[in-house]
Amino acid sequence: MRLLRDLTNITFLELDVTSTKSIASAYRTVENQTGGKLHYLVNNSGAGFVMPLLDSDIEMGQHLFDVNVWGVVRVTQTFAPLLVRAKGTIVNNISTASCMGLPYQGMYCGSKAATRLMSETLALEMKPLGVAVVIVITGNIRTRWFSNYPKFELPGGSYFSSIAERIGVYARGEQGHPQMEANLYATKVVGDVLGGAEGTIWRGAQSTIVKFALAMIPTWLMSLGKGQRNPDTMTEPTKLIYQHDGEKLLHPSRIISIVPLPELPVADQALAKDSSEIEHAVITDSTIFYVQGGGQPADIGTMNSDAATKADSVFEVKSVRQPAQGSQVLHLGRFIPSGAIGFNAGEEVQQSVDSEIRSLHSRLHTAGHIMSLAIHALCREGIIPALKESKASHYPDSASVVFEGTIEGKHKDAIQAKTDEFVRSATPVKIHWWSMEELREKCYGVTEAFELPEGEVMGRVVEMEGLGSYPCGGTHVQDCSKVGKIVVKKISRSKGTSRVSYTVE
Ligand SMILES: [Zn+2]
Repeated sequence: MRLLRDLTNITFLELDVTSTKSIASAYRTVENQTGGKLHYLVNNSGAGFVMPLLDSDIEMGQHLFDVNVWGVVRVTQTFAPLLVRAKGTIVNNISTASCMGLPYQGMYCGSKAATRLMSETLALEMKPLGVAVVIVITGNIRTRWFSNYPKFELPGGSYFSSIAERIGVYARGEQGHPQMEANLYATKVVGDVLGGAEGTIWRGAQSTIVKFALAMIPTWLMSLGKGQRNPDTMTEPTKLIYQHDGEKLLHPSRIISIVPLPELPVADQALAKDSSEIEHAVITDSTIFYVQGGGQPADIGTMNSDAATKADSVFEVKSVRQPAQGSQVLHLGRFIPSGAIGFNAGEEVQQSVDSEIRSLHSRLHTAGHIMSLAIHALCREGIIPALKESKASHYPDSASVVFEGTIEGKHKDAIQAKTDEFVRSATPVKIHWWSMEELREKCYGVTEAFELPEGEVMGRVVEMEGLGSYPCGGTHVQDCSKVGKIVVKKISRSKGTSRVSYTVE
């Protein structure tokens, strides 16, 4: 303000936007001095404070709205006759905070969003009266804004007390966001307005980033940006219930989010490219569905809402995958009836696995282990030369295990016989959680490069009791006889490896 003091063509008037008396007084002065015409009204006053919504004082919030919302309406209503006479322009300074909910600024964001929409209405209503309305969505500007903030202090017992220091950084404007110099900002906005701008314009540091981000990025994705502390549920890995309870086919879980396919990250959209039946990804806190991987295809099934009002809505799970980023499992599928999203975030739903498909996958997968153990047994007996396990696939129609080394075609009958013997033995199939040391010592198929998932100290192991064990995240039958008949189909050799394909009947 002091920079303007020496200018001779400027008259200062006192105007408190929360006081009708003050506004009326300013109006009379302007009317007298301008001959009843006002060409430009700039609603620039604004206030803000930083506080989690749960801790925000309602009276402070009401005062905030009094300045940011009602102040703009009061001043505009009062000065409207002068503007209409001049066919003038109203400039409302709104913030990028009007476009999205920012943490700890709920009341400020709310006030700016309200004013933004009212300004859009105002633009429509004033146009027939010959008055233009410019809505300036302002980004970060270097001003004394934060020095007007009340001192930040969380009330006692706040849920946010453990991150008070972090919120304080916002409250003092110390988060280090780029800022535009006030002079430059003012010059640009004045240029826009004098140049005849109407409608919404974006000015100030990061305002255009917000503009394009809003157009291109779904809000849930923006909430993952750095610097915004997310609720833990947004990043917590999905609990894999089937890893601990392989028999369970029904499971209640909580919805974290429901994302339309086009709003998934591009890498995750690709997971659905082979299916026209995938319209949404549903993320839950835990899952009973097997997640595709380790040579085993995903489970399919349904999710139902427990809410009686949504009893008709079912989510058909067509595929279950790990996302490209993070560890929140994607249940890919569609809602029936089509187009009706039957769940809300936070709601509990019942997950139900298709038992026939699960059973087939578990049999095929366990059969791979049994046949591999039979081949290892034949190596120990000296019938087949020593081999090293390479990889395996347990997809129906293409199940096979691959070894480094040579298995000749003539050994097919011996492999079949040993496999039959193991199946007949009805050996129990057990799940263990072992340390890396124990796992290296006792398991087949552990290569030098083998690692436990990040953050894990115990690895999941499947043991065919007395026959051998593997580190494995898959689903299994309870004993070897439950796989049914394993048919050794073919042995093929290529580049030093041997593939033994099989199926189950
Ligand atoms: Zn397994």
